[in-house]
Amino acid sequence: MVNKHYVEVKSIKKNTGLPDTYFVSKFGFSPYKACQHGCKYCDGRSEKYYIDGDFEKDITVRKNIPSVLETSLRKFREKGIIGISSGVSDPYQPIEIKERLMPQCAEIISRYKYPAMLFTKSNMVMRDIDLWEEVHKKAGFTLMMSIVYPNDDIRKHFEPYSSSVEQRLKTLKAFKDRGMSVGVLAMPLLPFLTDSAGQMDQMMKNYDEIGVDVVMPGCMTLRPGINKKTYFDIIDKHYPHLKNQYFDLYSENRQSGSPRKWYAEKVHKQFSRIIYKHGTPEYIPHRLYKNRMPIYDEIYILMTHMIKLYDKRRVNVDSLVLARKRYGAWLTDEKTYYNRRRNLSFDELESKVINMLDNGTMMTYFQNEKLLNFFKKVVLDQQVFNYITLKLEAL
Ligand code: SF4
Repeated sequence: MVNKHYVEVKSIKKNTGLPDTYFVSKFGFSPYKACQHGCKYCDGRSEKYYIDGDFEKDITVRKNIPSVLETSLRKFREKGIIGISSGVSDPYQPIEIKERLMPQCAEIISRYKYPAMLFTKSNMVMRDIDLWEEVHKKAGFTLMMSIVYPNDDIRKHFEPYSSSVEQRLKTLKAFKDRGMSVGVLAMPLLPFLTDSAGQMDQMMKNYDEIGVDVVMPGCMTLRPGINKKTYFDIIDKHYPHLKNQYFDLYSENRQSGSPRKWYAEKVHKQFSRIIYKHGTPEYIPHRLYKNRMPIYDEIYILMTHMIKLYDKRRVNVDSLVLARKRYGAWLTDEKTYYNRRRNLSFDELESKVINMLDNGTMMTYFQNEKLLNFFKKVVLDQQVFNYITLKLEAL
């Protein structure tokens, strides 16, 4: 049983500042609030989000999202990736079978030639694969599936109403076979249940067969309150032998819900090592955002990823950190200036960056000849940075 609550929204989310370096999206929307998938660890249940009623049954439907999306895309002055997701809902939860908001949105995104990245736990996205393929052909599309289990045994206790692991893998393969990019959100890894090196390795073998483009791992957060209680009730019921370990791991009751630091560091390190062994990036790779956003944002995101990648290989990144800081401050000022003057086109800002690289004046911010030459190859020669070999290659 589901209770639908229809609401109207005014706009989709837009980021006018420095780009989001994690999900690399500039715009975002979600057609629903609350989620019938009912994952037991879902952060969306937290009091922080003020969701009224039963999180799994009282679903807010943003009925006018297609028309708002169209108006927004008509008005936007910049290009960038549209992220379709939310921490508190899934765009392809069961209610979408009848509401059919997503096919309308896909058609609009395709018509306005915007790139998109969609996050889901449901194989219902297969229904719209032709539409997403159109988006991909025009501007680029990436499907991200959240999977944290090597198989279905444990999933049923924690994600009772989402698609099986097998269905999700088949969906990823179908999108990949049609030429689209696919990724996995390996989050939240469940402590003591799906976080062992063997399980991670098995998951990666599943993804290798598909040719997954990125795997992004993450630890589970449990915010104090309903979020933590819902999860702990499942542990009590199905895994009582783990109760004390869980109690200790989340005993700090941080507002962010983070587990103890030693655990988070251990899991990240372990998964990073395994992902790297399988030759898969753990940050959205350059190839997946190149030409899908303005050049000035691409440079900032790539610099941020390079800092993380080189740091993990124990290469000194001090000069890169400073270069990004100077470039980020300059870019923030430029964006403020362009945002305030509606008669200006952001294409001019892109041209300005290209010229600054070409004539060398970008050295004011990079202060590093090697870095300048690197970004000349990225921007002027259309090369992409490989996050595994740490080398530039043809697009
Ligand atoms: S699918 Fe996502 S939003 Fe929905 S309940 Fe699960 S974690 Fe929460």
